[in-house]
Amino acid sequence: MRDASPQTIYLKDYTPFGYVVEEVHLTFDLAPSATRVTSRIKFSPNPDATNKTFFLHGKNLSLIAAKIDGEAVKPKLTDEGLTCDVPNVPFTWEAEVQIDPAANTALEGLYLSNGMYCTQCEAEGFRKITYYPDRPDVMSTFSVRVNGPHPVLLSNGNPVASGDGWAEWHDPWPKPAYLFALVAGELVAHRDSFTTMEGRKVDLALYVRPGDEGKCAFGMQALKDSMKWDEDVYGRAYDLDVFNIVAVDDFNMGAMENKGLNIFNASAVLASPETSTDTNFERIEAIIAHEYFHNWTGNRITCRDWFQLCLKEGLTVFRDSQFTADMRSEPVKRISDVIDLRARQFPEDQGPLAHPVRPESFQEINNFYTATVYEKGAEVIRMLKTLVGDEGYSKALDLYFDRHDGDAATIEDWLKVFEDSTGRDLTQFKRWYSQAGTPRVAVTDSFDNGTYTLTFEQLTPPSAATPEPQAQVIPIAVGLLGPNGDEVLPTQVLELTKDSQSFNFPGLGAKPVPSILRGFSAPIVLEHTPDHAFLLAHDTDPFNRWEAARNLGKASLISAVTKGSAPDAKWLDGVAGLLIDDTLDPAYRAYCLALPGQSQLAADLHANGTTPDPDAIWDACESHRQALAQRASDALPDLYTRHQVHGPYAPDAEQSGQRALGNAALSLLTRLDSGDMAQAQFDGATNMTQQLAALAYLIRAGRGDAALAQFEAQWKHDRLVMDKWFGMQVIEAKPDDAADTAKALTKHTDFNWKNPNRFRATLGTFAAHHAGFHAKDGSGYTLLADWLIKLDPVNPQTTARMCSAFQTWRRYDAIRQSMIGKELERIASTPNLSRDTTEMITRIREG
Ligand SMILES: [Zn+2]
Repeated sequence: MRDASPQTIYLKDYTPFGYVVEEVHLTFDLAPSATRVTSRIKFSPNPDATNKTFFLHGKNLSLIAAKIDGEAVKPKLTDEGLTCDVPNVPFTWEAEVQIDPAANTALEGLYLSNGMYCTQCEAEGFRKITYYPDRPDVMSTFSVRVNGPHPVLLSNGNPVASGDGWAEWHDPWPKPAYLFALVAGELVAHRDSFTTMEGRKVDLALYVRPGDEGKCAFGMQALKDSMKWDEDVYGRAYDLDVFNIVAVDDFNMGAMENKGLNIFNASAVLASPETSTDTNFERIEAIIAHEYFHNWTGNRITCRDWFQLCLKEGLTVFRDSQFTADMRSEPVKRISDVIDLRARQFPEDQGPLAHPVRPESFQEINNFYTATVYEKGAEVIRMLKTLVGDEGYSKALDLYFDRHDGDAATIEDWLKVFEDSTGRDLTQFKRWYSQAGTPRVAVTDSFDNGTYTLTFEQLTPPSAATPEPQAQVIPIAVGLLGPNGDEVLPTQVLELTKDSQSFNFPGLGAKPVPSILRGFSAPIVLEHTPDHAFLLAHDTDPFNRWEAARNLGKASLISAVTKGSAPDAKWLDGVAGLLIDDTLDPAYRAYCLALPGQSQLAADLHANGTTPDPDAIWDACESHRQALAQRASDALPDLYTRHQVHGPYAPDAEQSGQRALGNAALSLLTRLDSGDMAQAQFDGATNMTQQLAALAYLIRAGRGDAALAQFEAQWKHDRLVMDKWFGMQVIEAKPDDAADTAKALTKHTDFNWKNPNRFRATLGTFAAHHAGFHAKDGSGYTLLADWLIKLDPVNPQTTARMCSAFQTWRRYDAIRQSMIGKELERIASTPNLSRDTTEMITRIREG
C-alpha cells in the first residue's frame, strides 16, 4: 500500500500488453485470514505488442508456488507485481497465492464485511487477489470455483455446478479483471425473472442479509424497468442466464457493475417506505439502472485504459439520467442534475483539482472517479446529442455497439462513430475531452430595425491542467419572448464555435426578451442579466423559469451579504406566485423554493471579487427563508394540507412531488409556528420522508432533542436509518455548534468510523455544512484533518476523496487560508501517508 515515490502515469505512454489471455481458471479456498487463490491462465504472445516483458500486477500477496506449463518457476517479485521469463509460444501459467481478507480494511480486492466475503476490483483491486495483467485492455473468459462453508457462493456469469461447500461459475463474455466479482456469505435471495426481447429467460436475484428481505421489492422492480428500458430505447438486451445483485454494508462507492454480479452499497439498493426517503428511492432506481446499463456501456464495450474512464462513465451517467427523466419528470430531473453539477463539478473545474474529462496523467486512478469524469462527461454526451440530433445520436450509438462490441475502446473510437454516421467533423468538439475548466459565456444584445442581435463571448479561464484553453463548440438553446410574455421564437440551438460570435433574428416587431441556455444546453457559466422577474413569470422553458427564480434569489442574497439589503420583493412575489400555481408540478415548485447552496454563493461572491464570509452567507439565507415564510404565510397552511398524500405509500414521481411540496411548505411554516406542525407530522409520520423532514425542522427550530431520542430508540437496529440520524444532527446544527455536534457524534457508541457510510454521514456531512466547516476559529478544519489522518491508513480511497472538502480554500480570507494551509501541511507530513491522499493534498496545496 505504501509507496515512497509515487509515479505519474501518462496517457501518451500507452502500449498494449505483450500477451493475450486466452482463458482464466480461478479456485478460491476461503478462510478469513488465509484465503488461497489458485490461478491457471493460458497466455499467448500478442502479435500487436512490441514490448514482450511478462509483468503481472500483484499487491499484498504471498506467493506459494508458480509454474509454467507444469514446471516450477521462480519469478522476480516487487511491491507492485512480478516478472518472469516465459516461452515465446502459448503457455499455461499457474500460481497459488495466499491473501488476508480479514485484514483488508481498504475495501479493495477481496475483503470481509460483517462476516461476508465480497470483492471490489475497479479500478486496480484484482491485483490484490492474484497475479494478473490487471489492466482493462486485457480481456478474457473466466471460470471460477469457490470453496467455502457459506450457503451462498457467487461469481460472474452463469452457474455451472454446485454442491455442499462449493460452487462453479463460468462467464462466457471476455472481460477485464476489474469486472471480476466474488461473494460468499449467509444471504437470502429475493427472486424474480425477466424475459428479454430475444426470448431469453433471465433469473434475477437480489441477495441480502436475513432480515432485509422486506427491502428488496423496489430495487427488483427498478432492475426490471431498466432491462426493459434499455431494450426499448437503445435496443440492448441482457446476455446471461442470471443477473445477481448483492447488498453489502461496507463499500467505498455506490455500486459496481461486475458482469452478471453487481455489488451494491446497501444504501444504494435496500428500500422500504418506513426506512427510506423519496430521495433515497429515486437514487436507488437511478443507481440500479446505471449499473445495469454498464452491461453494454462498460462491460461489452470497455475502456482501453483508465484515461478513457469517461467513455463508460459519462455515457452511462447520461443513459441513467435519460432513464430517470423517462420514469419521472424530465424538467425536474434536469434541474436536479444541474444543481448537482454546479455543487460538485464546478468547484472541481474551477479549483486546484481541475482536470479534463479525459485526464492525461495520474498517480492514483482512484482519485479520478470524479464529478468531472462522470457528470461533465455526461454533459458532453448530452451536447453531442443536441448537436447531431436525436436521429443522428441513435445512428451513432447503433454503429458504436456494432463496431466495438467486445473491444476495449477509446474516446477517439467513440467520436469516430459519430463522424462516420453523421458526417460531422468533431475535431473542435473533442476539446471538451481535453480541456479543463468551465467556459464562461457573456451575452450582449441589440435591436435595430426589427432585427434582434445576440452576441456571445466565450472564455475558459486558464488552469494548471489547461494553461491555454481554446474556443469550444457550445450549443446554446435560445428562445425569444415578446414584451407581453408570448413566445415569439421557439427554442433553437445556436452553435457557438468562436471566441466571439453574433446571431441575428430579423422580422421582429419589438425588442424581445431572450431566454438563453434553455434546458441548460451546455455546462457553462452564463454571464447575462436579463429581467429575471419577467422570465420567472413568462418563460415557456421550465428549466429557465426555475433558473430565473434561482437567479433572482441569488442576486438578492448577494446584495444582502455585500450591502446588507433586505430580501428582494420581486423574488418574494415571484416565488410566492409559483408556490400556489397549481398548473405546475409540485416537485418543480418545491425546487423553485429552494435557495442556491451556500458554498455556491461563496463561489459567486469570489468570482465577483468579494471574499466570502460564511457567517454572513448563512445569515442572509436565514433572513431570506424567514421573509419568504412571512410573505407566503397566508397560503402555506392550505398548501401543506392539500399536499398530504392519503392512501398507500408509493415512491413514484407523483406522490414524491406531493410530499416534497408539502414538506417545503412545512419547512417555512416551522419558521412561523416554532415547530408545532412539524411536531405533529413527526408524531404521526408513517414513512421516512415525512418523519425525517419533520425531524430536520424540529432541530432547526431548536426543539429537536426529544424527537432525536425517539428516532434513535426507534431505529437503533437499522444502520442505514442511523446514518440519517447522524447526518441530520450535523447538517441542521447552527454554525457555531456544528463542529461540536460532529465531534460529539464521533464519540457515540454507534460511530463505526471504519464503515464508509457512517464516516461520510458524520464527517462528510460536516464538511458540507458551509458555515460550520468554515467556523472562524478553525475548529472545523482541525476536526476534519484529525479524522482524515486517522482514516488514511485504514481506508485511503475514502480519505482521499474527502480531502476535496479543502479544494475551495483559496476563496476565503487570509486567516482562514492560513489555518487551512496548516491543516493541509499537517496531513501532508503524516508519516506513511497513502499514495491516494498524498496526491490529493499535493494537488490542493499547489493549485
Ligand atoms: Zn458507472
